[in-house]
Amino acid sequence: MQPPLVLVTIDTLRADRLGSYGSTRGLTPSLDAFAREATRFTAAVSQVPLTLPSHATILTGLHPARHGIRTNDGFRLAASVPTLAESLKIAGYRTGAFIGGYPLRGSSGLSRGFDRYDDEFLAAPEATERSADAVVRSALAWVEAHRADPFFAWIHLFDPHSPYTPPAPFAAAYRDAPYDGEIAYADAAVGRLLDRLRTLGLFAPAAIAIVADHGESLGDHGERTHGTFLYDATIRVPLLIKRPARPASARAAVDVPVETADLAPTLAALAHATLAAGDGQNLVPLLDGAAGDSDRTAYAESYYQNVLLGWSPLRAARTARWKLIDAPRPELYDLERDPLEKENRVAERAALAAGLRRALTGVEAGGRAAHDAGAAAAGESAERLRSLGYASGSTAPAPAGTAVDPKDRVAVWAEIEDGIDLATRDPAGAEQRFAQALRLEPGNGLAMKYLADLRYRSGRLRDARDLYRRAIAAGFRHADVYVNLASIAEHEGHPDEAREALTSAVRLTASDADAWNRLGLLDARRGDLEGATRAFSAAIAAAGDRAEPYYNLAIVERRAGHEAAAQAHLQEALARNPTYAEARYELGTGYLRAHDPARALAAYRAALAGRPDYAEALFGAARAELDLGKTAEARRDYERFVRVAPKEYAKQIEAARRAIDEIKN
Ligand SMILES: [Zn+2]
Repeated sequence: MQPPLVLVTIDTLRADRLGSYGSTRGLTPSLDAFAREATRFTAAVSQVPLTLPSHATILTGLHPARHGIRTNDGFRLAASVPTLAESLKIAGYRTGAFIGGYPLRGSSGLSRGFDRYDDEFLAAPEATERSADAVVRSALAWVEAHRADPFFAWIHLFDPHSPYTPPAPFAAAYRDAPYDGEIAYADAAVGRLLDRLRTLGLFAPAAIAIVADHGESLGDHGERTHGTFLYDATIRVPLLIKRPARPASARAAVDVPVETADLAPTLAALAHATLAAGDGQNLVPLLDGAAGDSDRTAYAESYYQNVLLGWSPLRAARTARWKLIDAPRPELYDLERDPLEKENRVAERAALAAGLRRALTGVEAGGRAAHDAGAAAAGESAERLRSLGYASGSTAPAPAGTAVDPKDRVAVWAEIEDGIDLATRDPAGAEQRFAQALRLEPGNGLAMKYLADLRYRSGRLRDARDLYRRAIAAGFRHADVYVNLASIAEHEGHPDEAREALTSAVRLTASDADAWNRLGLLDARRGDLEGATRAFSAAIAAAGDRAEPYYNLAIVERRAGHEAAAQAHLQEALARNPTYAEARYELGTGYLRAHDPARALAAYRAALAGRPDYAEALFGAARAELDLGKTAEARRDYERFVRVAPKEYAKQIEAARRAIDEIKN
């Protein structure tokens, strides 16, 4: 018998906000009711306090070093990494994923093994998240359609992640604690999900696991959100598991340390599916009453600032009582006596610390994450991550032994995080924050880049250029730095310099379709049609769903005299964007040259349907109408052209006036 499997991951949910974990705030009645029917793990540890790598661990059973995703950006799950969803599919399950937030977009590689990966809301430009209600609605529709088969539904609720903007009535009820309001809202959505499963008769037979990918610091240890530190506020997570047809003897609570990496082997075991051995352990014996190992060391890491700024990575080993954080200045905490991790005991308990550090060497030899700048977000994707508070880019690491301890730079990071937050709604305030970060750490390339972005956007181009150059000199790398440097160089009349900068951008991030497209436009303007063709083709290879590179390629082919190729590329552009008025217009021009005025007119009309005052298309339509003997229509379109055409079209305006006169006579 293969039970239904339901995995709910609630983003950014601190364990101490659940009533079943001791909260008295009353935020989680649904989760608390579920906890009474499930086994509650009191010492569950997330392997990394960032959304994408943490979920990669949950869905593979592997530590980040083995699944390869260390931060939210610049990493992709390799095709060779086995996933829980694939194992379940092989075991005969239908698999569906219902995503709430941008960091888990399907292109991260997490979608492998899912029949349905519902991240479609991200197709809207600038979309970053959707509400728990929308996610649950989509998931339930899928569950109801597949309830006759064994199914695995993964439901991701992003709401408690910053920015904290709970919907009504939670916004008013939690005006002074909007993070809590998001949790109360997400809890209500979980309640609706579980109620519906009960109504469908699926609750009792199902295995249901509810877990957070990480917590939230809310200012603890000077950290505002999550991602940098490895204190319990972010790495200790709520974990509730209900076994199918739960026996009365099942454990209510498990206090030994477990990892979120344990979820994949546990769910695979409950489904009788085969998952290749990873870093996680099957928790079914613990659910059934086995004692477990209170000395098990759970692992956690943070490479966020290591990748971005070249600071030291942090790695932690946590038992039920002790936690070692391996850093340039190592920390050891007695979690029993000091749950807030205020008193560093590393000096007095050196042997214990050394033992825990040895547990870490088995995990990975330290050093630097293999960040793939080629997969890093640039342009619009980097903007979406920024609007969720995440930075993009990378800095070469400092030489061994000189690496910065993130806790010695917590004030620098706080300024950067505030600046990222303010960048859109208060650019002047953001500028102050980044400038302050630079006063605290003059070599911080990320702060230079963000400061340069603000100056670039407000038209202070020379300032922006100097800061971008300083960021590069400081070792900071991000494709947008070069793309913006290119725009500045072009603006200042230095096309060679612009070309060099764009070449650097695509060398750094070969998947940056925008940079390739700009490089092509620059080459085309310089008359280098071969170079332009190469660049537009690369843009198409990087992002085949975009229409502009096809359009640009068509224009280049036409200039080179390859009219058939030009027409084919215009059709490709229109297949990707049917309302692309310029592509319709160019198609019409091709037909007119080929002496096919009827098709030309149809193309011009289609261009004008989207842009009624499109001067060139009016002129072209009138020409086609003359050829077809439709003189009244031709006159009307010429007259309209004369009204809307900009001054640069003096010659065409003159020709239109002459044509109107001829038609009149
Ligand atoms: Zn998250």
